[in-house]
Order: sequence, then structure tokens, then C-alpha cells
Amino acid sequence: MIKKMAAGNWKMNGMLDSLKEIERLQAAHSNSKIDIVICPPAPLLLPARKKAPDLLIGAQDCHQEVSGAHTGDVSASLLKDVGAAAVIIGHSERRQAHAESSALIKEKATAALNAGLTAIICIGETLEQRQAEETLPVLKDQLEKSLPETATAQNTVVAYEPVWAIGTGLVAEPAQIGEAHRFCRAQITKQLGAKAANMRLLYGGSVKAANAAEIFKIDCVDGALVGGASLRFEDFSPIIEALETA
Ligand code: PEP
Repeated sequence: MIKKMAAGNWKMNGMLDSLKEIERLQAAHSNSKIDIVICPPAPLLLPARKKAPDLLIGAQDCHQEVSGAHTGDVSASLLKDVGAAAVIIGHSERRQAHAESSALIKEKATAALNAGLTAIICIGETLEQRQAEETLPVLKDQLEKSLPETATAQNTVVAYEPVWAIGTGLVAEPAQIGEAHRFCRAQITKQLGAKAANMRLLYGGSVKAANAAEIFKIDCVDGALVGGASLRFEDFSPIIEALETA
């Protein structure tokens, strides 16, 4: 049985005062049967951990090296030390704005796994790639180049996030999500074998309370990576509930 996951990516949003949203999630979902991951900006990781002992706290990026002269970067082992259980790697905003390649993402994911963190590795096609009917080849290439050989269903999660659906209000059609997730499931199993056959596959891209239940019915969707709708308890809690009852 695959344990489902609802992960919230706060991106560069939130202040100390936003910890009250995490406190409310902790109060409402402390006995959840799914994994709930909140990924606030790095300075909020430790206080978030303290506010939410029953939720998982995740970071949004890590450096590929263990330590060293990398001004402004944070190591996976420090993330673990301050209470993170997971880290998002290779979000499309980092692939685009920081020119992160799949090869670098694989190095970062390896660092995360070595530090004992769950790696939430993001993949997804741009609108141009979808229109050129390159979606599945793009996903195959990203999976082949981004997933470490040591990735298993226990230590790694893949988030399929069509770039054109992130923060745009556009949601992929159920048939598009189903096709991409079935393809990813087969590709990951082919690539890594039985140890990865049940790797969790999250959908991301304008998930909100109004569309969550429909998305969670789709074959091979094991949860969601949520951006905008994870910032407020009122928006994220119903998505969590939809996944708990899916
Ligand atoms: C994301 O940031 O990964 C994301 C899916 O954002 P949004 O839910 O706002 O589209």
C-alpha cells in the first residue's frame, strides 16, 4: 500500500508570523494517515519543526556538496540537522531561473539521500514541449538524468509538474496527468527495478480545493505538490482532506 503525500511548497513566501498556518495544520492533521510535508523558506525550517512535530518539514533546495566554500548555499546535512525530513530538488523555477541541469539535480538528490532526507524530485515539460508532442521523451530524459541509482520507493518521490500549469491556474487534463503518471511509473521501474516500483508520484500545477478530489482519482497519482494553495490553512487543509479520503 502506497502512503500518499500532500506536500506544500511555500517558495519565497511567508514570514515568522506564517508559522501560525503550520500550527493550525498540526492541530487539524496530527493523526493523518498520509504524509503531510510543509516546505517553507530555509530560515523557517527549525521553528516549523518545533510547531509541527507530527507533520514533515521539507526544504526547497540543497547544495550538492557536503560542506565548503559555497556562499549562500545550504547543505543537505544541515537541513536534516534542523529537522527537515525532505527536500524538493529540481523545481522548474530552479531549473529555469538557476539553470539547473538534470545532471546537477541528480547530484543534489544524491546529497539529499546521503544525508537521510527524502528527495522530492520535480520533472515536467514546458508548453512548447507539449505542443511539439515531446512530453513523454522529455519526462524520460529528465527521469534518466535526474534520478540517482540509489533512489528507492522509500527515499525518493517524483513530482510531475507541467511547467505551464505551475502558478498559472491552468490544470492539466485528467487524461494528460494519467498518461504522464503511468509513463513515469513504467519508466522508473524500468530504470531502477522493483525497489522503485512503488515510488510515490505527485502531481503539481495549480492544485486547489476545488480540483483536488478529481486529480486524486487519477491512476498512479499518489498525492500532490502544491504551491499557492499551500500558504493558508483554509486552502491547504481541504486538499489534505481530499487526499486522506481518496
Ligand atoms: C509548485 O510550486 O510546485 C506548484 C505546483 O505551484 P502552484 O500549485 O501554485 O501551481
